[in-house]
Amino acid sequence: MISNKDFVNQGHYLVDWLSDYFNNIEKFPVCPDIQPGDIECKLPDLPPNDAESLDSINDDFNSIILPGITHWQSPHFHAYFPSNNSFPSVLAELLSAGLGVQGMKWLTSPSVTELEQVIMKWLRAMLDLPSEFKGVIMDTASVSTLCAILAAREKATGYTINEKGFGNKTLRVYCSTEAHSSIEKAVRIAGIGSENLVKIPVDNQRMMDTIHLAEAVRKDIETGYIPSCIIGVLGSTSTGAVDPLTEIGKLCNEYKIWFHIDAAYSGNALILPEYRSKIKGIEFADSFVFNPHKWMFTNFDCSAFFVKNPRNLTKTFSLVPPYLQTAQEDEIDYSNWGIQLGRRFRALKLWYVIRSFGVKGLQDIIRKHIGLGAEFEKFVRADDQFEMMTERNLNIICFRLIKSDLPDLNQANKILLDKINKTGKIFLSHTVLDDIYALRFVCGQTNVELKHIKYAWDVITSCI
Ligand SMILES: *Cc1c(COP(=O)(O)O)cnc(C)c1O
Repeated sequence: MISNKDFVNQGHYLVDWLSDYFNNIEKFPVCPDIQPGDIECKLPDLPPNDAESLDSINDDFNSIILPGITHWQSPHFHAYFPSNNSFPSVLAELLSAGLGVQGMKWLTSPSVTELEQVIMKWLRAMLDLPSEFKGVIMDTASVSTLCAILAAREKATGYTINEKGFGNKTLRVYCSTEAHSSIEKAVRIAGIGSENLVKIPVDNQRMMDTIHLAEAVRKDIETGYIPSCIIGVLGSTSTGAVDPLTEIGKLCNEYKIWFHIDAAYSGNALILPEYRSKIKGIEFADSFVFNPHKWMFTNFDCSAFFVKNPRNLTKTFSLVPPYLQTAQEDEIDYSNWGIQLGRRFRALKLWYVIRSFGVKGLQDIIRKHIGLGAEFEKFVRADDQFEMMTERNLNIICFRLIKSDLPDLNQANKILLDKINKTGKIFLSHTVLDDIYALRFVCGQTNVELKHIKYAWDVITSCI
């Protein structure tokens, strides 16, 4: 057994370890150059029967686990979207683990519910969301969107599918071809079926074509389908494109269709007053999600989900067994707002982060990251071996090599990306836009600076 004294020593060791890790993070290869199974084969097949010391576990962590880590917090990490953290967030997560409380109901830890209510009001104010929106913290945008689709399904059918199943009803959900795969997954899980997810084409700015959308909805209604939900994207995963939210919202209003906005990454930029115009149309939305775990220095997992009317959620999800029934209204108990019964104390890390940076501190870093994206864009535009694939959105840059000895540019860019990532010096990912393979660069790591952007460009050009 670990004594309280050992806990203190080991705790100090781990905090020191993390401090060194953050100091030296740039020295690690961002993405490890190893093969599947390389880590697993170094670990025993069966658990130890007898207790082992934390020292020996720490040693194995350093020699076996660390070499298989992709360093998401490295300022040389430019792949996917960031999933950034910060000291206050890590410390609050430790506190939350130590308290080990469950926030399923108000009574099971009143502070968990009440701090979450307050933090969601703070975020609502920070993003300037409509004042009637109420928020809840979910684990991921995937689950927030699933909850939106489930609530939309129930609302569109008078809350009957939970009770009676689909019968002969066929529901429809709409999003653009650029929308995130989590939407299709949610449509499947909700029992609506992938075939009933109508993917609307995009225009040359990769925004949903709302003329197509309106036609699709009208045709579906004529055919007897039930349009249940339209999902607009604020910041698509590939390029950061923003759908025409006002037009989508008006259509939703006209046909009484649930309007959900997926702003998983780019929603964080709404804390900047100069970016708020992007959210025009939010007044029509029934729900909105963004992930502080992507770009608000709050470690994974932490997804902020807002709804206009929480009754739509509680009518969908509330199922309280007798042993958990208390006198309060459903709405105080966040377990009635979604899928999970047990809930982590995630508001704590947001409270630590928002207070210790201050809104202004958070704005300064996000604004800086967008500025770094603009710097990277300049490098691409100044080099005639490359081209921009779309206009830059925030700090997301899609670009590609256009001068190559290889006849197939897709192949040339694939090879280039592989070579860049094999150096271990930086890590980028890719996307495919109308069958064209593009490199994708994002700079949103907590500690990324101009020098890292310059370094990245040097590495990229040296790999041609
Ligand atoms: C990242 C992302 C998601 C998925 O986020 P998770 O929290 O990992 O589920 C969904 N939509 C968009 C637009 C994203 O960028």
